Amino acid sequence: APRTVLISGCSSGIGLELAVQLAQDPRQRYQVVATMRDLRKKEMLEAAAGEALGKTLTVAQLDVCNDESVAQCLDCIQEVDVLVNNAGVGLVGPLEGLSMDSMQNVFDTNFFGAIRLVKAVLPGMKKRRKGHIVVVSSVMGLQGVMFNDVYSASKFALEGFFESLAIQLLQFNIFISLVEPGPVVTDFEGKLMAQVSAAEFPGTDPETLAYFRDFYLPGSRELFRSVGQSPKDVAQAIAKVIGSTRPPLRKQTNVRYLPLPALKALDPSGSLYVRTAHSLLFRWPRLLHLGLRCLACGCLPARVWPR
Ligand code: NAD
Repeated sequence: APRTVLISGCSSGIGLELAVQLAQDPRQRYQVVATMRDLRKKEMLEAAAGEALGKTLTVAQLDVCNDESVAQCLDCIQEVDVLVNNAGVGLVGPLEGLSMDSMQNVFDTNFFGAIRLVKAVLPGMKKRRKGHIVVVSSVMGLQGVMFNDVYSASKFALEGFFESLAIQLLQFNIFISLVEPGPVVTDFEGKLMAQVSAAEFPGTDPETLAYFRDFYLPGSRELFRSVGQSPKDVAQAIAKVIGSTRPPLRKQTNVRYLPLPALKALDPSGSLYVRTAHSLLFRWPRLLHLGLRCLACGCLPARVWPR
């Protein structure tokens, strides 16, 4: 029988692509419940799903920050075999200029939103002694990135939470997979950049603001331009993880980005990564661009980390 897959945040980006790919699986292995907070945004998903709509794909309302919405959605589904925690929001900018509310919203959505869904599906999975929980984390769940302090912290929180849970759940034959994309070209970055250009970051000193606007923003744009992946590629990597008989605990999706997290693994003291990231941004910004271009052409990582 097909496995029921529940995905959060399917009105755009990675969630939309994944829902469509799984629903159009040539071997028809999945019955997809593609959920979103606001059903008025369902047109793009429905158009992309084509013939799968109403057959292997159904659309349902689900706000990961709302207990009632989660309960109502799960009431309509008998069994969830695979849960994909994909819904997420970003936040960039100098800490001094960000409100506590905006920071708490990041944790409410990215961290507690995922936990709310896990709490809801876990009893059923445990009873059936099978299940797979997939979490769309980020490379920022493995390494901090300047001016992404709170977003990165929310992804680190997911990594710690799910690594802990994975140990217990092996006893129940339930698998956890943390998928860690690098930059992905979706609305995510666009929404963030729109927020940032409108924001004034009150209370931030001019030096910090200059680092944000003159160093971080151009570096980030270059990173998305040079090594950004498409949501389709990321969805393909997630679909492979879901289809696997022994799902990995962690999966980085972008081979071109691997060298950066590798710095952290190379030096357990952490200094190598922090100092390299600092130098690339502040001392040798040109090197960052050259390095990224080299990564983008694929020759170096392909040689060092063959696929
Ligand atoms: P996206 O903005 O297109 O998708 C995020 C989705 O989450 C949106 O559809 C949004 O409506 C939904 N969402 C937000 N709050 C919600 C809530 N309370 N309840 C239900 N849905 C809610 O961006 P994306 O890039 O497809 O992001 C998907 C995931 O990938 C996120 O968890 C993000 O952190 C992660 N990610 C993105 C990138 C990137 O560069 N775009 C990189 C690494 C990881």
